[in-house]
Amino acid sequence: MQDKILKRSWVTISIDSLLKNLKIYLNNIQESTSIMAVVKADAYGHGAVEISKALQKKGINNFAVSNVMEAVELRQSGVKGQILVLGYTPIENLELIYKYDITQAILSEKYATDIIASNYKIKCQYAIDTGMNRIGLDADNISQCEKSIRKVANNLILTGLFTHLCVADTPSEEKFTREQQSKFENIIKSVQDLNLPYAHSMNSAGGLWYQDRISNLTRLGIMLYGLKPDYMNILPPGIEPVMEWKSVISMIKTVFPGETIGYGRSYKVKNKMRIATIPTGYADGYNRGLSNKGHVLIHGKKAAIVGRICMDQFMVDVTDIPEAREYEEVVLIGKNGNEIISADDMAQMIGTIGYEIVCDVGKRVPRVYI
Ligand code: PLP
Repeated sequence: MQDKILKRSWVTISIDSLLKNLKIYLNNIQESTSIMAVVKADAYGHGAVEISKALQKKGINNFAVSNVMEAVELRQSGVKGQILVLGYTPIENLELIYKYDITQAILSEKYATDIIASNYKIKCQYAIDTGMNRIGLDADNISQCEKSIRKVANNLILTGLFTHLCVADTPSEEKFTREQQSKFENIIKSVQDLNLPYAHSMNSAGGLWYQDRISNLTRLGIMLYGLKPDYMNILPPGIEPVMEWKSVISMIKTVFPGETIGYGRSYKVKNKMRIATIPTGYADGYNRGLSNKGHVLIHGKKAAIVGRICMDQFMVDVTDIPEAREYEEVVLIGKNGNEIISADDMAQMIGTIGYEIVCDVGKRVPRVYI
């Protein structure tokens, strides 16, 4: 393998920004809460191993992932501490949970029964459903919750309970979030004598706005990476994006009125224009919804996308950027001169969330840690 990275389409990940975001976030939450870094989906596309290792050096010892293979990857690369799998692990793969000392979320009573029957005495945390209706025991039925939690505590190594706040980023939904927290608190109280080490309900937005009296962990995801939760318009000052995405101009050509650009001939050329081809496409995770909508930054100026995003390439209008030359760098996400395109901006253009934009950056796009 060559040791030079392929400068076709690549992202830079700033560990300094990551650690700065962590520090700022910690300054904004109560001291009794530790951080569980949410590094699922390859740390939201930023590279779970490198991100977890950088955080571990700063004393973070709790990590959350979505599945057992993500957890095994972290263990095999030397990440220590608690790794919680938030989602489903098939019973036949529990062996990996046991072997790598991973903590499994219990999703339902049936799942608890099946894990107990498997005879793997694994570490686990019970999910409590306080209103999201995704996973967990129904918090409205306190006695049933209590019974099931005690059964798990007697048969497995139960280390905690957690719930998920599904509208903590939406100020108009404050009442719902407070109700979720009070339901969670009731369940915690019903099994207080078990002295479970962990209770947690808060995500990035929850940690800032809904500190509760019982959680000793905050599951911090999106703000670590410097992006906004869905409906949140402001971030604590200083929090900044960790990822920048760059590509280059592979070719420039002039096109004339009457010509069309790209698949489906969706862009019709009206005036003579200069177009540049960018060697990044939807197979790299560059969202096809940006066709004829988005823009990139070249020489500190916006260059509009013309035509449809192809699998591996797309075209932009550089008519008003006469200084643009072949092989020069192009910013897809990040700063360039006085202009910025953030993953959140890009998400807004196509009606999604910044989470999806960064998670989608493909495996074939090299990550460069700076
Ligand atoms: N906890 C759970 C269960 C999640 O599913 C997520 C994100 O999807 C998080 C925490 C982190 O949320 P955020 O990235 O908004 O901080």
